[in-house]
Amino acid sequence: MKVVYRCEEPGCRWEFDNPNTCVAHEGQPRFGPNVKVGDIVTLEKCFGWYNGDAKWIRNYEDHKGRLEKDAHLDFKLPRQKCPKGHGNCFDSCCNLEFYWVVTAVTKAQHRWRIHVASKAVRRYRPAASHIHGYTYPQGHLTCRVVAKPPRAVVAAGKRLIGMEFDNLL
Ligand SMILES: [Zn+2]
Ligand SMILES: [Zn+2]
Repeated sequence: MKVVYRCEEPGCRWEFDNPNTCVAHEGQPRFGPNVKVGDIVTLEKCFGWYNGDAKWIRNYEDHKGRLEKDAHLDFKLPRQKCPKGHGNCFDSCCNLEFYWVVTAVTKAQHRWRIHVASKAVRRYRPAASHIHGYTYPQGHLTCRVVAKPPRAVVAAGKRLIGMEFDNLL
């Protein structure tokens, strides 16, 4: 016999082995979308490389002296000993922190999805599109709203508004 915990929200088919995980999942709607469409945000995990527009990198000036040309990625940061002592660091001290524009806020079953895109990375397929995906208000790559984003980012970001993505970031 196997006990399964099922989300009680109507229309939701998520199931869990662990009751605490299930309750946490059901609690998601309490975390309303903490951002709105058009906001420029940063995410809690950063990138070690970029091949797009450097204007979309919040801490570009901090790291540009360390960036190396890379045959596969255009530019990447060499690994360093983290000044904050993180073992495997994804923070802005050791990585490039991208600006993302919130392109849409939707609901899938009862969970809010925050769709974001950044022009800091170009994807090769589909051609000339930028890196994008969706995240959640809590529990996965939380968004932080940037109070005074660069004008160029706001302007370019406006053209991405309305897009919705299928991939979890
Ligand atoms: Zn659910
Ligand atoms: Zn670090």
